[in-house]
Amino acid sequence: MPSILDLLRSRLSSLLPSELKPNELRHLLSPRRHPLLLCQRRATLIVNRVRLFAFLFAVLTPLWSLIDLMVFEPRLWAALAGFRMMACLAFTCLLLFYRPSGNLLDAYRAIAILFAIPTIFYIASHTLLGSYQLAQFSAVVGAGYAFLPFVLMAGLTIFPLTLVENLVLSSLLLLAQALAGYLSWATLNWPSFAGAFWLLILIAGVASLASMSQLAFMFALVRQAIRDPLTGVFSRGSGEEILRLQWDSAQRKDGPLALAFIDLDHFKSINDNHGHESGDQVLREAARRLVATLRGSDSLLRWGGEEFLLIMPETDMQQAHMALERIVGQGLGVRPDGAPLTASIGLAERRCDRIADCRDLLELADKRMYYAKMSGRNRLCATDPEAVQPPQAFVMRD
Ligand code: GH3
Ligand code: MG
Ligand code: MG
Repeated sequence: MPSILDLLRSRLSSLLPSELKPNELRHLLSPRRHPLLLCQRRATLIVNRVRLFAFLFAVLTPLWSLIDLMVFEPRLWAALAGFRMMACLAFTCLLLFYRPSGNLLDAYRAIAILFAIPTIFYIASHTLLGSYQLAQFSAVVGAGYAFLPFVLMAGLTIFPLTLVENLVLSSLLLLAQALAGYLSWATLNWPSFAGAFWLLILIAGVASLASMSQLAFMFALVRQAIRDPLTGVFSRGSGEEILRLQWDSAQRKDGPLALAFIDLDHFKSINDNHGHESGDQVLREAARRLVATLRGSDSLLRWGGEEFLLIMPETDMQQAHMALERIVGQGLGVRPDGAPLTASIGLAERRCDRIADCRDLLELADKRMYYAKMSGRNRLCATDPEAVQPPQAFVMRD
C-alpha cells in the first residue's frame, strides 16, 4: 500500500514543470552548474529584457509628471519632476550603453541597475511625499506612488530566473520597502504598511513561480535546439559555439585546451550489412558510452554522420591522451556481428601544438584523425606524419 509520503511525493512531482527531465529540475533551484550555452543564452535574454524594461520606464516615468502637475503644488511638483528626469536619464543610459555580452555576471548587474533606479526614486519620492499634507486628488495620486514596489516585484516575472536568484532579488525589494517605511516612520500608517508588505511577499511568491516556469521552458527549448536528436550529444552548430567559447576562455587564461576528432571505423559496412536501424543503434550506444566516461567540463558533439568531436577544456596533451586511452579502453560498444566497435582519433592541443586560431586546432585534429586511419585505424594520433613513432593501436579492456 503506498504510504502517505509516497502519495505526497507523487502529487508534488505532478506540480513540477513537465518540460524538464527529473535530473534537470535542480537547474531551477540555483544557477550553479548550468550548461554553458544555457548560461550564455539566458544572460543575453536577461540583458535584452532589462533594456526593454528600461525603454518602457524611460518613456513612462517623465510622462507621469503631467498628472503630477495637475494635482500637486508647484514646489512639490518641481521636486518630483526633478526625480523623474534623473530616473529617466538613468534608464536611457542603461538602454544605450548596456549590451548583452553573454556573461551572467553582466546580466545580474543589469537587473540590479534596472531595479535600483526605481527603488531609489521610490524611496526619495515616498520620503518627500510623507512630509507634505496631501488632500483630495493629490492624496490619491500620492498614494499611487506606493504602488511602485508592486510593479517592480511583478517585473521579476519577465526574467527566466532560478529560485535562489528570485529569493535574492525579492529580498532586496522587500528590504527597500522596509527602508522606505523606516524613513517615514513618524507618519507611517502601520496597518496599511503591514498589509502592503504582506501583499508584496505574496506577489514575490507568484513572480518566482512565473520566472522559474519561464526558465523551465527556456531550458527545454535550448536543450532541443542544441542537442542532436539521434544521440542526445551536442549538435554541430551548438558544438561550434561551445568550442569558440572554450577557445576564448583558454586564450584569455593562456590555458590548455584539447580537442579530439573521433571517427568510428568501418561504419558504413554496419549499415550495408545489417541495415540503417542497426547503424543508428550502434551510434547511440557509442555516444552513450563516450558521454558516460567524460568529465563534467568536457563536451561531446556529433560533428557529422559517425564523427564526434570531444572538447576538453583545461586539459593538456598528456592528460587528454590518458583520458582518451581510458575512454576507448572501456569500449565503444559492439558491432552487430559481435566484433568490438573501434574508432580512429586525432588529438590536438592549443598550447602543445602552438595554435593561434580555433579553426587551426580543428583542422589539425581532423588531419591527425586521417593519419590514424591511414596507420591502420583503431588508434589515436597526436603527432604529425613526420613524427618518429607512428601511432599505436588502442589496447581494449575486456
Ligand atoms: P572509415 O573507417 O574509413 O571511417 O569508414 P566508414 O565506413 O566509417 O566511413 P565512411 O565515411 O565511408 O562512411 C560513413 C558512414 O556513416 C556512411 C553513412 O551511411 C553512415 N552514417 C552517417 N550518418 C548516419 C546515421 O545517422 N545513421 C546511420 N545508421 N548511419 C550513418
Ligand atoms: Mg567519417
Ligand atoms: Mg568512419
